[in-house]
Amino acid sequence: MEAKIKAFMDEVKTRNGHEPEFIQAVQEVAETVIPYIAKHKIYNGKNILLRMVEPERLVSFRVAWVDDDGEIHVNRGYRIQMNSAIGPYKGGLRFHPTVNASILKFLAFEQVFKNSLTTLPMGGGKGGSDFDPKGKSDDEVMRFCHAFMLELNRHIGPNTDVPAGDIGVGAREIGFLFGMYKKIRNEFTGVLTGKGRSWGGSLIRPEATGYGTVYFAQSMMQTNGMDLKGKDVVISGSGNVAQYAAEKALHLGAKILTLSDSQGYIHDTDGIDEEKLAYVMDLKNNKRGRISEYADKYSAATFYKGETPWTVKCDIALPCATQNELDGEDAKALVKNGCVCVAEGANMPSTPEAIHEFHEGKILFAPGKASNAGGVATSGLEMSQNSLRISWSREEVDQRLKDIMEDIHDSCVKYGKDDDGYCNYVKGANIAGFVKVADAMLAQGVI
Ligand code: GLU
Repeated sequence: MEAKIKAFMDEVKTRNGHEPEFIQAVQEVAETVIPYIAKHKIYNGKNILLRMVEPERLVSFRVAWVDDDGEIHVNRGYRIQMNSAIGPYKGGLRFHPTVNASILKFLAFEQVFKNSLTTLPMGGGKGGSDFDPKGKSDDEVMRFCHAFMLELNRHIGPNTDVPAGDIGVGAREIGFLFGMYKKIRNEFTGVLTGKGRSWGGSLIRPEATGYGTVYFAQSMMQTNGMDLKGKDVVISGSGNVAQYAAEKALHLGAKILTLSDSQGYIHDTDGIDEEKLAYVMDLKNNKRGRISEYADKYSAATFYKGETPWTVKCDIALPCATQNELDGEDAKALVKNGCVCVAEGANMPSTPEAIHEFHEGKILFAPGKASNAGGVATSGLEMSQNSLRISWSREEVDQRLKDIMEDIHDSCVKYGKDDDGYCNYVKGANIAGFVKVADAMLAQGVI
């Protein structure tokens, strides 16, 4: 089996040698899915995984725009249409200076499995730009978004490819992007998700990724005779996912100890309560400030510059910042300090070494493609509401989200149980995600 996996990875590396994040994401899937393929005749010898690692289409384009001082800038825009076997391409847009083809291909590849897990009919895609919205005025962000959509519009559509937000793309950016799409195409459709409430957005979509991550953690805990009540929770990040993960964990009776951003983390020994979380939301979403300002306001908190929060003793860890933010040493510290559950709110925040430590320590570990799937699942619910031209109540969307997260949890358990009874959620998520897409690809023939 090792030789089979190596031969497959050698081929992937030959074609994508300069894309480390993409290779990392594929390696994790190959290690769990190739043994499954070998045992199941219908998938054997069809090169299905080899077809899945090649994007159906990859678009790269110039985005030229003018800043407030009249200077012209050039950024690179992308859309990666990875797999449409089970539905239109679906996945977010990321605006961040680190964006390149490797990052977006890893995200698009993960999205295929994640979207399959949601039980909704969505293929996988991802896109974005190396544009950095930080420090830009609203007008500059608008001009950039409009320029970006001037090209992107010809590649997307409500039945073709439906982008949404990701890092650096929130309600403000989706608004500008939607406005330009509507202007060019002269049609009001559900071509983007994460829209504002008054123009086609779904209730609970802003909360969904963070809420879903906590629902998933709750399912893992309950399956093992525990729950979130009274537990110490360490969270990284302070953006959309971290904020709503904190909110839901608070509602379920947990104590939130940390939040972070790219400059460091804050540790509040009294816990971040509802009022303090409201301060963080205003600081981050309206004032676009830094998390260090929290420690200036609340005396129980300390700011640790340039550090990550994984050495703080906790029961549950929710990495909600970005890829590869939690390495092997961090994982060792978490396990040693008694952490029993890690659920990823970000995409691929744990390195392969970290995942190895979690599995060795036999703690509960959920990969992002399972635990953070609530965001895109609720995007799927937004698409359904747009097609039906109705909007569901908060309770209805939240209940559907909860049900979907429980279904994903059950699928992971179905395919992820090891012989000793330990649930390997990585294996479970990869195989469950694979099976649905592979069956559709087989039915549709070699295309
Ligand atoms: N960017 C989110 C993710 O990583 C959401 C994508 C979407 O809603 O289409 O899943």
